[in-house]
This record gives sequence, C-alpha cells and structure tokens, in this order.
Amino acid sequence: MRTPVVRFAPSPTGRIHIGNARTALFNYLFARRGHGRFILRFDDTDAERSREEYAAAIEVDLAWLGIQPDLVTRQSQRFPAYAAAADKLRALGRLYPCFETAEELDRRRKRQIGRGLPPIYDRAALGLTSDERAALEAQGRRPHWRFKLEPRIVHWTDLVRGESHIDTASLSDPVLIREDGSWLYTLPSVVDDIDLGVTHVIRGEDHVTNTAVQIELFEALAGPGLAPAFGHHNLLTAASGEGLSKRSGALSIGSLREAGVEPLAVAALAVLTGTSASVQPVRSLSELMSLFDIAHTSRQSARFDEHDLTALSARTLLGLDYESARDRLEAHDILGHKAEPFWLAVRGNLTQFLDVVGWWRVVEGDITPVHEDAAFLAEARAALPEEPWDHATFGAWTARLKQETGRKGKALFHPLRLALTGRENGPEMAALLPLIGRLRTLARLP
Ligand code: GLU
Repeated sequence: MRTPVVRFAPSPTGRIHIGNARTALFNYLFARRGHGRFILRFDDTDAERSREEYAAAIEVDLAWLGIQPDLVTRQSQRFPAYAAAADKLRALGRLYPCFETAEELDRRRKRQIGRGLPPIYDRAALGLTSDERAALEAQGRRPHWRFKLEPRIVHWTDLVRGESHIDTASLSDPVLIREDGSWLYTLPSVVDDIDLGVTHVIRGEDHVTNTAVQIELFEALAGPGLAPAFGHHNLLTAASGEGLSKRSGALSIGSLREAGVEPLAVAALAVLTGTSASVQPVRSLSELMSLFDIAHTSRQSARFDEHDLTALSARTLLGLDYESARDRLEAHDILGHKAEPFWLAVRGNLTQFLDVVGWWRVVEGDITPVHEDAAFLAEARAALPEEPWDHATFGAWTARLKQETGRKGKALFHPLRLALTGRENGPEMAALLPLIGRLRTLARLP
C-alpha cells in the first residue's frame, strides 16, 4: 500500500461533534497505522459562514482527542489554484457557463417530473451560441459554471463498502462556480487532494454521491486512474436515532470536554460504535488503532447512547496508568512521592478526572470528619498502630478492633471510613490509610 496521506476537512462553521470526531479519528488512525500523514484542511470557501474562532476551536478539540495534524491548510488561501484548475477544465471543454435562474431551473425540474423523467439538468446552456451568451451578459446576467460529466459508470473499490459504482448519466452536471464567482466545495476539494498528494479520502457516507463526480474531476485534472482511494463510513446517530448536527452544538467535543468526559472515552465510542470491535475502554490511541480496521465497519448506521459515555469514561480512568495521568495530576498540584500510590488508589473511584482534587484533600489536606460513634472511634484511636504504615496496616488495625470490640462488617468499617475520609464510599481504606498517615488519622479521630 502507498504510504497514506489523508485529510480531515471540516468547514469551520460550528464546533465539531462526536460524529465529526469519528471521521477525524478514522483518518488519523488509518494514517498512523500506515506511518502516513494527516492533514487538517479547513473547507472555508463560504466566507459568510466560516469563522476563525471555529477553526481555532476545532484545532483545540482535535488536540484534546490526541490528534496533532502534520499540516493545516485553508481553502480560502488557495483560490488561485482553483482558478487555474477551472481554466484547465474550460480548455478541455469540461466547464461551461450557464445562465438559468433558480426559478427557471425549478420550473424545468417540475416539468420533467411531470413527464415522468428524471430531474436532471438538460444542458440547454451548452447549446447557446456565443452571440446568445454575449446578449445574456449584456443584460447583466452573470454565468454560473457547470462541470460537463462524461456519462459513464464510475467504479471504485470503497475501503468500507467494497465494489461501488455510480452512473454519472443519472446526475446533473454539477455547478462548480456560483454566479458571484464563489466556489462550491466540489472542485476545491479535488484540487487540494491532488496538490497535497492525498492518497485516501475517508469521510462519511453522506458523501458517496459526490464521489463519482469527484473521480471524473480527478481524472480530468490529474489524469486517468489518478483518483485517490475512497472510504465512506457509516454515520453516528444519537440514541434517539437523530443525526448529529454541527449547528445544534449537541454532543460537541467542547461540551463533552466541559462535562469532564475523558477524551479516550469519546475516541473509543466515536471509533468503535458500529464496527466489529465492541465499544471498550482504551489506554491510548495506539491501543484504539489496534482495535480499529476501517474494512470492518458496518454499513448500518451506528447508533450510540451518549449515556454510555459516563461509564466508559470511568472505566477509561480505571485503566489509566500513572505515567499517562502524571501531567494532569501535576496540573492540580498532585505530585511528590505520594502521587503515584494515590493515583492507583483512587483511579477506580472517579466519575471524572477532576474528582481527584477532593480525594487529594482527603489524603493531603483538611476535611471535616464525620463521627458516627464517638466511643468506638476513641477505642480505634487507642488501638492505632505505630508507623511505618503500609497496605497491611488497616487490616491489622481493624483485626485488633474486631477482637477488642466484637464488631464486624459495616459496624466496624463504616465509622472509620466516615471519620477518616468524611465520605460514605470511596477507595479501599487499606490503600488510603498509609497515604493519610498517622498524624492526620489521629487528628480525625475524637
Ligand atoms: N467539508 C466537507 C465536509 O465537512 C468535506 C468532505 C470531504 O471530506 O470531502 O463534509
């Protein structure tokens, strides 16, 4: 296989959501597996709707997911390349000016449907003489430009869907340039893919119908047989069955981050839903890569339940080793010799990472102890072993208390947990006690 060069090509008109993350990660993991390159391309030809702050936010969201692009490009900076490609198509007789208004086209479509014909553009503009064109322009009409398809059956072997074909005779010649000279996405995308040496176009299956047109464009501009490979993955839908929309902001990567969801949980859900691998926590994107195979993506829509994210996030934290958590712990001043045993003690009791702050206070700071049974706690104080303490200390201490007081089970353990942590539940006391230490333990007992 060629060393892959892939691109993720969002238009910066909103925040990306978990469905866009699926496309980004499919591309990224595919490139990484083949030791290739990942390009972030902003499809920002629509000057009115594209915003710089969305582009910046998309880069932040990708970085949060663990994706660092090898290159970032913007279509808005490449207009001369598109104009040159349009000239080439004109010279080949494959780009022609049309003057119909939207109303005229609509009327024609209705007439075709009424006669039981497919509503395909009838290429009337190809029949205009140069005098007729000049006359229209003299009236102040400006042309839009259509790509002249070469009616044929375009075949490709889709990385996900296998053998695919579209008969371009069933399509209207697509408009590439609007009346006001602005570019639709179709041509710039192909020109960029050629200039950047993109080898694999991996995108959602909502783009399947563009593929035949784009393959014809690749062949017209780059040469026969020079189109990249294509893979169209199934789209994620929310539990309600609804598609995801950039505009609604629902399940945006930014909102999941703010809600404290783990990035690797988002990545695992985004990638593994609707594939042959079950959704499971991963420790790294490399591990996710080993579970992912684009060819094993289902063709059914991939429905996921956003409520699964909470549990998946907790399970992701449980699997995170200290090395992977260290920087994030340090950012909350959780460092020093206790930091690693602390992480190992608490990671199974976190709903979100930020919960570490409260647990660090339990082992290193001040809490309000809860004294449920003062007499028993006084006995516990008297029986408290001398340091040094280790994992066995809590067992030894409670075994002695059990013998002395006859208590067992909850009556024995619960008052100790409440006094030492101020909380009803939490990590194993055997792991916490040595971290809390003897001085703090004494201070929390009556
Ligand atoms: N800007 C297009 C989109 O976001 C890119 C499609 C493609 O990957 O070619 O849908």
